[in-house]
Amino acid sequence: MEKSRLNIFGRPFADRRTIERASDEWIAMQRDAPDARFLPMHQGTALLEQKTLAWLPHEALPPGWPQWQGVFLGIHEDIPRFALEVPGDEKSHFARHGEFTELRPAAFLLEDAELALFAHGRAVLHWHRLNRFCGGCGEPMQTAAGGHARRCLNEACAMGETYPRIDPAIIVLVTHGERCLLGRQHAWPKGRYSCLAGFAEAGETLEETVRREVYEEAGIPVTGIVYHSSQPWPFPQSLMIGFHARAEHDAIRLLDDELEDARWFSATELRDEVAAGRVLMPSPISVAWNLIRDWYAGFGDPRELQRETELSR
Ligand SMILES: [Zn+2]
Repeated sequence: MEKSRLNIFGRPFADRRTIERASDEWIAMQRDAPDARFLPMHQGTALLEQKTLAWLPHEALPPGWPQWQGVFLGIHEDIPRFALEVPGDEKSHFARHGEFTELRPAAFLLEDAELALFAHGRAVLHWHRLNRFCGGCGEPMQTAAGGHARRCLNEACAMGETYPRIDPAIIVLVTHGERCLLGRQHAWPKGRYSCLAGFAEAGETLEETVRREVYEEAGIPVTGIVYHSSQPWPFPQSLMIGFHARAEHDAIRLLDDELEDARWFSATELRDEVAAGRVLMPSPISVAWNLIRDWYAGFGDPRELQRETELSR
């Protein structure tokens, strides 16, 4: 738990009140409470005022807001918190309260609790935007459980309730002796290297996903798969599950076209390449960085791997 809490978006968040929120009456009571606060969001962005989330009271919202898609995020600092999806033509109403900002840049500005609330709202509102109609019968669906479910009202339909989708993805730092395996994707900025990763498929355990992904991407069978930590990753709706694993040999073969390059690095090589500006570490907000940091700590001070400009989180 301690390791997962070191991952951005994974720190203690609001009390979600998962039992109470099933009641529409209870949700209405929270929403109508004078101290309720609402976070305006739009297509994955959230309203930021200076370096904090802009939590607005009822009176700051335009008249049509109760019709907007909302999500009860929980009780945080004794205050009921909701995320609201602002329609495009209502965005300008909020200009005086701040600026709609993407989550990645906000990750370098906001405190951890606010980031967890932003990430939660972002993932669930994304799901609502893509699931307005029932997948079974095509009828419009109604929000339930404070925005944590959608319900089909067509009695002839077997769909009933559906829940926000979360895509589990493994991410793994593979080691061989004193070296670790990092790869880079075609689209990444020049020099960026990171851990190998991939989505779990239906019918797979996470350990099997680790074995399959590392083999597909680098041609290397792994063993000694050990869980490290997990991280909600709302881009748009993943859960990253981090592992360390041991390679059975070190002969790299890029079998699928996922990676442009994969390389073994000793701690010293990695430090020197980063210092020379030839290799860029993954973003400090990602669990990939924490996997590498914890491995590197066995050889030296992980801060050696971060250049000044990247240390800001
Ligand atoms: Zn239906």
